[in-house]
Amino acid sequence: VWPHALGLAAGLAGVGVDGATRAAGVLFALPKQLGGLERLRAEFGPEVAALAGGVEKLYRLRVATRAGAEQQNEVLRKMVLGMVEDVRVVLVRLASRTQTLRWFAKNPLAEREGYARESLDIYSPLANRLGVWQLKWELEDLSFRFLEPDLYRKIAQMLEERRGEREQYIRDAMAALRAALEAAGVQAEIAGRPKHIYSIWNKMRSKGLEFSQVYDVRAVRVIAPSVRDCYTALGVVHDLWQPIPKEFDDYISRPKGNHYQSLHTAVIGPGGKTLEVQIRTEGMHRQAEYGVAAHWQYKEKAKTSKDF
Ligand code: AMP
Ligand code: MG
Repeated sequence: VWPHALGLAAGLAGVGVDGATRAAGVLFALPKQLGGLERLRAEFGPEVAALAGGVEKLYRLRVATRAGAEQQNEVLRKMVLGMVEDVRVVLVRLASRTQTLRWFAKNPLAEREGYARESLDIYSPLANRLGVWQLKWELEDLSFRFLEPDLYRKIAQMLEERRGEREQYIRDAMAALRAALEAAGVQAEIAGRPKHIYSIWNKMRSKGLEFSQVYDVRAVRVIAPSVRDCYTALGVVHDLWQPIPKEFDDYISRPKGNHYQSLHTAVIGPGGKTLEVQIRTEGMHRQAEYGVAAHWQYKEKAKTSKDF
């Protein structure tokens, strides 16, 4: 219990949750062992006790839904969101499942496939909806590795670099771009990410692409103050790195059907590696990111409090 609880708390710290939630993570299995929620309340206060109680409730749901059929998954996801009054409970549940999969990575028992399938069916879509990217990619990559070890290994080999090296590559590319934008007088925010293995596989499969045709394996994003700054930033990017022909899309002057706006380009980045660059204003970014969240909330009619 303790290695799991401590790994879980570290995972929660990694996504930046507050102290009460981390405490509830450490204490996740203890309401029973310590003599009930009353005891937790007395020792750690009502907030931690309520969170730990909520987590316990979700663990019971798992036992009840082990053999969930395909079409029940959406119902289950809704149940998870509807059952909790405090979304932090779901974060603890997701971090706990991530920790369980990490354990299975070192201890390859046969039942890990069931956990992997359930993680892809229920938990990673929840992480996606809550926008907890760090938990989503790890849930998906570990699950994919357990379910499709050969495919996973093939893509990992084609990537040539390990995750940490790919993260460093992105940081270096962002630093170079930041300096060039500053020199051009563009006050931009820059983000970036290495695409995770499961997402690479999904893109190859759904679009029928070869690995070499996936241009956003390494990607950065520029959030600039105005539309004019976006086009200036595009010039800066193409001056810094050579663009790849036919990979430029101007969704600012020609928005997508869903009103999505951005400039997309792919370039030969540092070290000759392909790099995707997206450029958009803050308003376009909010529409792209939170427009989706608002859509989920509307569609799912989840029991949403202000905190949620
Ligand atoms: P994907 O790997 O395309 O499924 O995207 C996963 C996450 O990476 C999402 O949170 C996206 O917002 C983010 N992302 C996608 N493209 C970029 C990019 N060019 N720069 C920075 N983040 C990105
Ligand atoms: Mg992409």
